[in-house]
Amino acid sequence: MAIKVGIVGYGTIGKRVADAVAMQRDMKLVGVTAHSYSFNTEVAKSKGYKIFSVGDSSELKTNGIKPDGDINNLLDNVDIIVDATPKKIGKENLEKLYKLKKVKAIVQGGEKHETTGTSFVAQCNYKEALNKDYVRIVSCNTTGLCRTLHAVDKAYGIESVHATMIRRGADPGDIYHGPINAIVPVLEMPSHHGPDVQSVLHNVEIFTTALSVPSTLMHLHTLTVDLKKRINVEDAIELFKNTTRVRVVRNAEHLRSTAEIMEFARDMGRLRGDMPEICVWQEAVGITSNAHNKLLYMQAVHQESDVIPENIDCIRAMTGFKDGEKSMQMTNRTFGIK
Ligand code: NAD
Repeated sequence: MAIKVGIVGYGTIGKRVADAVAMQRDMKLVGVTAHSYSFNTEVAKSKGYKIFSVGDSSELKTNGIKPDGDINNLLDNVDIIVDATPKKIGKENLEKLYKLKKVKAIVQGGEKHETTGTSFVAQCNYKEALNKDYVRIVSCNTTGLCRTLHAVDKAYGIESVHATMIRRGADPGDIYHGPINAIVPVLEMPSHHGPDVQSVLHNVEIFTTALSVPSTLMHLHTLTVDLKKRINVEDAIELFKNTTRVRVVRNAEHLRSTAEIMEFARDMGRLRGDMPEICVWQEAVGITSNAHNKLLYMQAVHQESDVIPENIDCIRAMTGFKDGEKSMQMTNRTFGIK
């Protein structure tokens, strides 16, 4: 029997998760919510997705959308909800709706770890989400950090990490946020990303700093990792090449920047031009020359899409599918990633 999934919050993340659910053979997309009317609602309608209103539905009706019911009707007909509403609303929905209706729910990285007590990145801790009722998918940045650090930790053992997140100022379709002409440091030490990584990689010592720049395309991370074992550059590159949902990109391919990586994703014919893999630059992998136990690398994170495969695997884990490796393979196949 297919897992019945509902999406609450049909924006940047929600619309991608909806399409991804619709692509899985073991899942059925029951429908998506419309909180207000927008082009997103028109796209959902054109894809044949059922639309469930949240609050007053008169704006939908004025614009020719006849909802298939309201959010309560959606909750009554699903095994699990993926909540992709803005920060803090996911927590509110969890307390006021999902717990009351006893519906399993996934919330996103805008919510705090304490909201669910379980935070998730499939290749790191799939089993922690098995049969859980409420799980949080960590943010795009934390997902990116966890994917590569988990691989490095397993192979070489991590003593400690320092990472800096150079964050895009806003998503491409967002006209309200910035900066448009400034570099804005996060004035807290560490930035919240370090503790957030530890909600998944519990034993990794990590200190993070962050800043925002006038770009919409991707985040860029620079990492310095102190290791327990010696490493060389070739082995580090090989490790990243063999890590699922990580792609090694090269200057030789003219993939020098976030702009070229996103152009590459569009040229590959990816849906919406997405790049769910974390992109590590081959030429930017290095080690300190003497000790061989300090690894440096840079990676790019497509904030709009890297968490989408995680939502799909988390749905399987929470509904009792035990084999994390198999779930990731099934998901990867539908995304055309390795
Ligand atoms: P978004 O603003 O693009 O979309 C949110 C959607 O929720 C909108 O369609 C809005 O109309 C709807 N909505 C608002 N209030 C609602 C309510 N009460 N009930 C139902 N729907 C409601 O937001 P987003 O960027 O997709 O972010 C969603 C979550 O994903 C946040 O927790 C965010 O931190 C996280 N996240 C975002 C990104 C990113 O880069 N955009 C990356 C990773 C994680």
